[in-house]
Amino acid sequence: MRILVVEDDPTLASQLHQALLDAGYAVDLAADGAEAHYQGSVEAYDAVVLDLGLPVMDGLTVLRKWRNQHRDMPVLILTARDNWHEKVSGIDAGADDYLTKPFHMEELLARLRALIRRSGNHASAQWVCGDIVLDTRRARVAVNGQAVNLTAHEYRVLAILMQHMGEVVSRNELVEHIYAQDFDRDSNTIDVFIGRLRKKLPPGAIETVRGLGYRMCEAN
Ligand code: CA
Repeated sequence: MRILVVEDDPTLASQLHQALLDAGYAVDLAADGAEAHYQGSVEAYDAVVLDLGLPVMDGLTVLRKWRNQHRDMPVLILTARDNWHEKVSGIDAGADDYLTKPFHMEELLARLRALIRRSGNHASAQWVCGDIVLDTRRARVAVNGQAVNLTAHEYRVLAILMQHMGEVVSRNELVEHIYAQDFDRDSNTIDVFIGRLRKKLPPGAIETVRGLGYRMCEAN
């Protein structure tokens, strides 16, 4: 899963970057509103962390523009302390949640998980597909209770497929959601990750839908 972090404070941006990488996400950074607006318009994100006080274009304007363009990814806004009307404006502009600075990284991660879960219609932070359990809180996967060792990219591919259980996910969608922007993307690598995942998961767990993509847990 892929997150866009929009934050002009370089220290906080790099803390967010590292915490999200550690949590298993692919992460893109934007340091001003215009760059953020562009990236959020052309790239596919599972969620956005958006600071409201930004150079070039403020965060509220960025958010309104996205929503006017029907970019509907979940957006968590970061607001200044004691500025309650910023929260109200942010929610009116289409934010899904907010956090007031300073915040605890654990709380930000929990709120992001909740947003992503809701956008995929999951009731819990543990996603279950047959014998496979994916724990989004710890970025871990188990089969029949046994931990499965996955690389970061294998985990992201599996998380996207399990987020969209029963639906066909195309190779292009997988590419868009597992790599950060500066990565050299190649859709052929998806087949490699799928092949490796199949060796680590129960037989038949990942179905190939010819010409369309991959699917998990159609029966659910
Ligand atoms: Ca700021």
